Amino acid sequence: MPDVAVVGGGPAGLSAALFTAKNGLETVVFDTDETWMHKAHLFNYPGIRSISGSEFMTVTRGQVRDRGADVREDEEVTDVEPIGDGGFTVETTDDAYDADYVVLATGADRSIAEDLAVEFADDGTVDVDLDTETSIDDLYATGAMVRDEEWQAVIAAGDGASAALDILSKEKGEHFHDFDVPDDVA
Ligand SMILES: Cc1cc2nc3c(=O)[nH]c(=O)nc-3n(C[C@H](O)[C@H](O)[C@H](O)COP(=O)(O)OP(=O)(O)OC[C@H]3O[C@@H](n4cnc5c(N)ncnc54)[C@H](O)[C@@H]3O)c2cc1C
Repeated sequence: MPDVAVVGGGPAGLSAALFTAKNGLETVVFDTDETWMHKAHLFNYPGIRSISGSEFMTVTRGQVRDRGADVREDEEVTDVEPIGDGGFTVETTDDAYDADYVVLATGADRSIAEDLAVEFADDGTVDVDLDTETSIDDLYATGAMVRDEEWQAVIAAGDGASAALDILSKEKGEHFHDFDVPDDVA
């Protein structure tokens, strides 16, 4: 059973998965590979001078897998349901899974959030707090689905990281910082 199920594998979802998997949470990413990134070329992602969006996806998926996440590029999520005593059941085209946390990262497609009846803002985006948590505990929404027009890859990745840090802080029972320093790096 995964600790964290990420729905959508664009920059937001992969970023969330990178942090949670790297820090010991069993993490699965379900994706249908319809990310806008396949239409983009990035000159505005700090640390990367120039990269096609598709190449960015290949590199980032590899990075996330390197850190232990299970990234499924062709498994669509069809339903997410809260479980009475906490956690969620995630139904996909292949199977059903229980997870303690769900991170929604489905781009501009907000249909799963609508089905879950989370609160929406007046502009039609999913209403989240600074940690990207929705009105349902342990359910996060990240990236294009929580933004009216600020659609940039680095912003989506930041949203995913915020969700992951909040999940990790809950799990560790204190504010968690994913700090690596040169002495630690193998
Ligand atoms: C033409 C164009 C050019 C762009 N150029 C730039 C640029 O130069 N620089 C920049 O920073 N940004 C650019 N962007 C914006 C950038 O692509 C987005 O900000 C970014 O992709 C949003 O990331 P996301 O993770 O929120 O959503 P997405 O990248 O859209 O990823 C969502 C993922 O969720 C998957 N998904 C959806 N529903 C399900 C489901 N039910 N089950 C499983 N998977 C699901 C989709 O298949 C998709 O892979 C551009 C966008 C476009 C359209």
